[in-house]
Amino acid sequence: MPDRIYLDNAATTSLDPRVLEAMMPYLTSHYGNPSSIYSYGRESRLAIENARKSVAKILNAHPAEIFFTSGGTESSNTAITAAVRDLGCKHIISSEIEHHATLHTIQYLQQQGKVWVSYVRLLAGGDLDMQHLEQLLAESKEKSLVTLMHANNETGNMADLNITGELCKKYGAVFHSDTVQTVGHFSFDLRKTPVDFITGSGHKFHGPKGAGILFINENIKIAPFLQGGSQERNMRPGTENLYGIVGFAKALEIGTANYEADSNYIKSIKFYMIEQLQKNIKGISFNGNPLYNSLYTVLSVNFPKTDKSEMILYNMDINNICVSGGSACSSGADAGSHVMQAINNNADQVTVRFSFSKYNTKEEIDIVLEKLTGMI
Ligand code: PLP
Repeated sequence: MPDRIYLDNAATTSLDPRVLEAMMPYLTSHYGNPSSIYSYGRESRLAIENARKSVAKILNAHPAEIFFTSGGTESSNTAITAAVRDLGCKHIISSEIEHHATLHTIQYLQQQGKVWVSYVRLLAGGDLDMQHLEQLLAESKEKSLVTLMHANNETGNMADLNITGELCKKYGAVFHSDTVQTVGHFSFDLRKTPVDFITGSGHKFHGPKGAGILFINENIKIAPFLQGGSQERNMRPGTENLYGIVGFAKALEIGTANYEADSNYIKSIKFYMIEQLQKNIKGISFNGNPLYNSLYTVLSVNFPKTDKSEMILYNMDINNICVSGGSACSSGADAGSHVMQAINNNADQVTVRFSFSKYNTKEEIDIVLEKLTGMI
């Protein structure tokens, strides 16, 4: 039996050894400041610009549209704040199931009296009601920012960036999408996708933590979020996270090169778990649409609430199985999941999110299932 079974890959992933190898020189011998003008600094600058070119090529964007940041949270804060401050958006259209990086930024701007906010209605399975989105756009008297995620990190449900983007174009709205759960896991063609801002975070696809990107469409001109130096073409001050940037690009290269094989493999693990859960555990259900338009990495499961099942997360931890909770209501300090409250506010269920990576095996799923049956 392995020491630990890690099924929380939507929270973070382990570093791919090839990513560590690519980062290593910049963690050790190549530590020159990319802003230094001597050759030792210029070598660091070259590594960053090569990383930018590689990321841009993979996403089919221009290198000038890719800005390196500290991750998804900073990227979304930058985009949303800039849309209000620099692009004249006074109305934000979002959903209640966004990540807190988005929700808390919107709420902060709302509290400051800078915007008013509308939330798109959700359909039964947790997808967005696109008719309602169109209605909100059509009725808006002010320029809108639409900020809607590409894939939900709790349910795995995916939205169609093209459909949302076309609607935004039709009504002259700015479109930001939190693509943290999909960059590195799916292919992107940003030249053909009607989106103004997207985000990415290296640690979600076997890259380093604290390294991300913000894509800003070349047609958009914004001011920086932070004040300071002139790094990232005056858009993101601060000495660059050199090894993080190199690692981000390498992880994206690996994820893209192995997309077919890895995604099919991970999907087979997810589907195996669905099948085995249905076979072995009575009364379970799944959140979202696990079989279609869904992240192949995420499976959100509801277990009937009993004295025993309420202790699932605790018992999983004791058994060295790493998973996330996600119940609508929970006891103690944890406020519960705002996503589950919005889509499935059922106090009689205990929700567990299992999320998979290329490093998981069916044998691990078998062990988890065997342990789970004793915990229900
Ligand atoms: N958005 C989504 C959907 C996420 O899952 C996460 C990570 O938990 C974030 C944003 C935040 O990304 P980061 O950890 O890079 O700040």
